[in-house]
Amino acid sequence: MAYDYDDQNIFAKILRGEIPNQTVLETEHTLAFRDIEPQAPTHVLVIPKGSYVSYDHFAAQASDAEIIDFTRAIAKVCEMEGVTLSAGEGFRMISNAGAHGVQEVPHLHVHILGGRPMGRMVQ
Ligand code: 5GP
Repeated sequence: MAYDYDDQNIFAKILRGEIPNQTVLETEHTLAFRDIEPQAPTHVLVIPKGSYVSYDHFAAQASDAEIIDFTRAIAKVCEMEGVTLSAGEGFRMISNAGAHGVQEVPHLHVHILGGRPMGRMVQ
């Protein structure tokens, strides 16, 4: 399956250091940083450092090491932000993909939202 990765997307530029970001966590394969337009008290974007458009692209082509690192980084950010079920009131994680997912930036990212009740997802 072919996935078309545009290396001029904003998150690729962030990974190359061409655009500044507010880093929350950096690991070998993953970067987490604050969303520029936060929708909640906690709004962190977690991205793999590899060039993956979407979650399906990542799951199909990333190494086990990248997938484990990314998965654990998401949980670590939740812990650092105090929104885990063990220490806080919970969170929402969302990853939009493609046209129907209304994905704005074509580099895989998981939104972590927390710090307030999110409300029901209606759309
Ligand atoms: P999407 O709609 O693709 O799931 O979400 C893209 C997210 O990236 C949006 O929440 C938007 O606010 C965020 N975003 C767009 N440009 C930038 C940027 O230059 N820096 C940061 N930190 N976030 C951005």
